[in-house]
Amino acid sequence: MAKPADFLSPKSPPAAPAKSKSRVKHPKRAVPSAAEYLAQQLAQTDALFSSIGEGVIVTDTEGKISRINDIALNILRFDLEDVLGKWYPGTIIAEDADGVRVPNIKRPIAEVFLTGKPIFKRVFYRRKDGSRVAIALTVSPVLLNNKPIGGIEVFRDITEELRLEKAKDEFISLASHQLRTPATAVKQYAGMLLQGYAGNLTEAQMAMAKNIFDSNERQINTINDLLRVAQIDAGQVQLRKRRTALIPLLQDIINEQYDKFKDRDQQLLFEYPKREVWAVIDEERMRMVLENIIDNAGKYTLPKKKVFVSIQRRQGRVRITVKDQGVGIATKDIAQIFEKFTRLDNPLSAAVGGTGLGLYWAKKILDLHGADLFVESKARQGSTFTIVLK
Ligand code: ADP
Repeated sequence: MAKPADFLSPKSPPAAPAKSKSRVKHPKRAVPSAAEYLAQQLAQTDALFSSIGEGVIVTDTEGKISRINDIALNILRFDLEDVLGKWYPGTIIAEDADGVRVPNIKRPIAEVFLTGKPIFKRVFYRRKDGSRVAIALTVSPVLLNNKPIGGIEVFRDITEELRLEKAKDEFISLASHQLRTPATAVKQYAGMLLQGYAGNLTEAQMAMAKNIFDSNERQINTINDLLRVAQIDAGQVQLRKRRTALIPLLQDIINEQYDKFKDRDQQLLFEYPKREVWAVIDEERMRMVLENIIDNAGKYTLPKKKVFVSIQRRQGRVRITVKDQGVGIATKDIAQIFEKFTRLDNPLSAAVGGTGLGLYWAKKILDLHGADLFVESKARQGSTFTIVLK
C-alpha cells in the first residue's frame, strides 16, 4: 500500500528510455464510430445527470417532463412512470406558503420561457402522497442556437432550513421582548433624572444622564426594529387599511423630523399639489415606512445639503418621492439595501449608526400594500426613493 508520504513527495522523474535504433511498432488504436462516440457521450451525460446532488427536472417546449433524476423523485415521492412525459405544471403541483396553488402561468418553468432569464424561487410542492415539501429552486431555459427548447429546474428540499429560520426568528422575537421591558424602565428613570425628580444635577451628572438616555433610546430603537422584523417574517402583520389624506400625513412626519435636519444644517423641503391626495393605506405602518426613508435621506447626506419630498398623482397612481443630495449608493449595491442587516460602507455609515433593518421592513410593508419602491442613485451624488401606490 502507498504511504501518505508517497502522495506528498514529488517522485523523481522516470529515467529516460535508452535510445535504441530499432523502431518500436505501436498497435493501432481503433477509432470509435460516430454511433459509439454518441453512445459514450450520452452515457456520460446520464452519469452526470444522476450524480447531481439536487433534484433536477427537464421539460420540453410543451412543458412535458423529459428527464428527472432520482433525487427529484425521492423529494417528490413520485415514481418515474408517474411523471415522465407528463405535463409538468399539472403533475407536480406548486403552492405558496398559504397553500394557494400557483397558477400555471406563474410557474417559474413558464416564466422562464417568457423572460429567457434564470429564476430563483421558494415554493411548496405537493408530493404524490399529498404531503407538502418546501423547495428552493432555480429554473433556466435550455437554449439551442439561441432558441428555447425546454427548461431545466434544479431544486432542493429546504424543510430543515425553514425550521431553523423559524427557530431563529422566534428566538429574536423572544429575546427582544425580554430586553424591551428593562430597557423601557431605564428610559423612564433616566428621563426622571434629567427632569430633576431626584434633585438638581450638576453639569457633569446631567451630561452623564443625557448619555444614558440617548444610548438607551438607540437600544430601544434596535429592539423595536428587531421585533417589527420578527413580526413581519412570521407573517403576523395584518394591514389595517383605510382611506387616508397623504399631504397632512407627510407634513406631520416632516414637522417631526424638522429639528433633526436643522441640527445637521440641512433643509427638508416638501412639494405637494393644491388638491388633497388620498390613498387606501395602513396609516400607522405607512408612516413608519416614510419616516424611515426620509430619516435615511437626512442620515446619509452631509450637512448644508437638501432633501426634497414630493407627492403627486399621476395616471391614477400616487407617487411619493424622497430625493437627497447625499453619499449615494453604487448601482451594484442597490438590491442589497433591502436585505436584512445590510449596512453599506459609506462615509457616513459609522457616524450615523443603524440596524440595517429599516428598508427590509419598509419593502415588506410596501409589498403588502401592493406598492412599488424604486431607487435611483449614484455614488457621491445622491439618491431618489420613489414609492408608487396603486
Ligand atoms: P440603517 O438602519 O442602516 O439606516 P436601512 O435598512 O434603513 O438601515 O438602510 C440600509 C442601508 O442602505 C443603509 O445602511 C445605507 O447604507 C443604505 N441607504 C439607505 N438609504 C440611503 C440613502 N438615502 N442614501 C445612501 N444610502 C442609503
